[in-house]
Amino acid sequence: MDCLFCKIVEGTIPSTKVYESDSVLAFRDIAPAAPVHILIIPKKHIATMNDVTGEDDAVMAELFKAAREIAKEQGIAESGYRLINNVNADGGQVVYHLHVHLLGGKNVGPLLA
Ligand code: IMP
Repeated sequence: MDCLFCKIVEGTIPSTKVYESDSVLAFRDIAPAAPVHILIIPKKHIATMNDVTGEDDAVMAELFKAAREIAKEQGIAESGYRLINNVNADGGQVVYHLHVHLLGGKNVGPLLA
C-alpha cells in the first residue's frame, strides 16, 4: 500500500519522533502551523475516522492518551492546545492515514477564523 504515514511507521521515510508505543506513533509535522505541531497516528493503517471500528477502541484510547502525555511533555498542557482530525475532502484531509494534529505553543485562536 502506498501510504506516506505507513512508510513513516516502517522507517523508510524519516520523521522526528516524539512518542512511540506498540500501537501509536507521534512525530513533528513537516510544515508546522504552530510552535508545537505534532501528528499522532495509529501504527495500523486506518484511512479516515470513518473507518474506525469497535476493534480499534484500544488504539484510539492509546492515541488520545499519547496526546495528553505529549502535551504535558511539551509543556503546553496548562496553557492549552488544540487537537484536530480532518476527514475527507471537505474536512481538508490530505494524507489518508488517520492522524490527529496537536497544535500549541501559542494561542491558536478561534476554531473557525
Ligand atoms: P491533513 O491535511 O490533516 O491530511 O494533514 C496532513 C499533514 O501531514 C500536513 O499538516 C502536512 O504538513 C503533514 N505532512 C505531510 N508529509 C509529511 C511528512 O513527511 N512528515 C511529517 N508531516 C508530513
